[in-house]
This record gives sequence, structure tokens and C-alpha cells, in this order.
Amino acid sequence: MKIVLLGPPGAGKGTQAEQISKSYSIPHISTGDIFRKNISERTELGIEAKGYMDKGLLVPDELTIEIVKNRLVEDDCKNGFLLDGFPRTVKQAEALDSFQGKKIDIALLIEVPRESILDRMTGRRVCPACGTTYHIKFNPPKIENKCDKCSTALIQRKDDVEETVKARLDVYYEQTEPLAKYYKSSGVLRTVDGTKDIDIVFKEIISVLG
Ligand code: ADP
Ligand code: ADP
Ligand code: ZN
Repeated sequence: MKIVLLGPPGAGKGTQAEQISKSYSIPHISTGDIFRKNISERTELGIEAKGYMDKGLLVPDELTIEIVKNRLVEDDCKNGFLLDGFPRTVKQAEALDSFQGKKIDIALLIEVPRESILDRMTGRRVCPACGTTYHIKFNPPKIENKCDKCSTALIQRKDDVEETVKARLDVYYEQTEPLAKYYKSSGVLRTVDGTKDIDIVFKEIISVLG
């Protein structure tokens, strides 16, 4: 099963990806996570990506495409994969289509209206150690500000502040939303309502994926 997750920042892609990846035993590949790992390890890629991410802008296509291309040839992607946060531009989608044997089966769009996004994003907290995502209101950890899985203190992503979220939303509607049309025309687009509770959204996704 080769799946692409689409939806605005804060739609719940990462949250759902974690569960889908477990249920279908396919690797969860998040370009945002790859960039953040490189930033924390201070690699050349990380240093370059950080400048764009801090402003809420997209990392250039050439760089991003190369990273995904190299990731998808790894052994664990043989029986499928779940891409979260890639593609984000038509150019990236076209590149993905051109990778040998990587034709997408389903592009799953998680729909959440623009006005719900700001609350989702500014309340998001993440575990810097294991990557688990929480929300201060909608999905709080059992102990305040501590990761349920590894007890590490949670942090707020630097790009989850209001001003940057607004920039990211503009980028989304301008550059990424057109991908829905792109995948619709090739017949692989499926849509779920992302405004419902996390477990209800997950059930809907399972019924769509079959
Ligand atoms: P994305 O990867 O699409 O940016 P996340 O999965 O990180 O989105 O979710 C964004 C924020 O919204 C997180 O704080 C998450 O806990 C919360 N969230 C995810 N799904 C839902 C939902 N269905 N209802 C309410 N909050 C949600
Ligand atoms: P979110 O969870 O809010 O959807 P991500 O973690 O997917 O955010 O991405 C964070 C940032 O990483 C983006 O704002 C962008 O700067 C960069 N990024 C991630 N994926 C891509 C991509 N496919 N193309 C370009 N930039 C990307
Ligand atoms: Zn953790």
C-alpha cells in the first residue's frame, strides 16, 4: 500500500500516520521529521532547511525531492509506505510519479477548515525525544507537559506560533492544495472529515483504505 497524506498543517496527518503505519505495517515517512532531525544534528541539510522552516516557507523542491527519492529506495519501503508532508507542490508530486515502482495507490486528504487550524497548531506540543504529538486541549498527555511514552518534557515547535502558522497556511492554499485536483484527476483521491475526534477520523480512514 503506497499512501500519500494530504491536508493543511494541523489537519492531523502526523497523528493519524502513526496509527496507520502500525495497522498496515508500512513506514511513516515525514519530510518535516527528517528536516527536524537534521536540524538537531546540525547537518548541512538541516542548516539550509532551517532558514525556510522558521519562516513558514517550503524547503526548495530539488532538495526535498532528492531526500524522499533516497528514502523510498530503502528496504522497508518495498511493500509500501506512508508519506506525510510530501508532496507539497505539483513539482514534487510529478517527481514522485516518476520514481520507478512508486506509483501512489491512495492520496488521502484530511479536510479541516482554515478557521480551526490556528487552535490546533498553537496548542500542539511534541516530544523532542520520541516525536509523539499532543494537544493541550484536544489530546493532552496524562501528566501535564510530559510525554506518555518516555516522560520527556514536551516542547512547542518554533514554527507553531501564530505568525508562522499564518504564513504556512498561505503557502498551503497556494502551493499544496492544488494537489487535491492533481490526484483527483488520476482517480486516487479519497477524502475524510478531519474535524471529528481523533479515533473517529482514524476509523473513517480505515474504512476508506479497506
Ligand atoms: P499535521 O501533521 O497535519 O500538521 P498533527 O497530527 O500534528 O497535524 O495535529 C495537529 C494538532 O492537532 C496536534 O496538536 C494534534 O494533537 C491535534 N489533533 C490532531 N487530530 C485532531 C483531531 N481530530 N481533533 C482535535 N485535535 C487534533
Ligand atoms: P505540519 O506538521 O504542520 O504539516 P511538517 O512537519 O510537515 O508540518 O513540516 C514543517 C516544515 O518543514 C514546513 O513548514 C516546511 O518548511 C518543511 N517541509 C516539510 N515537508 C516539506 C516538503 N515536502 N516540501 C518543502 N518543505 C517541506
Ligand atoms: Zn516521548
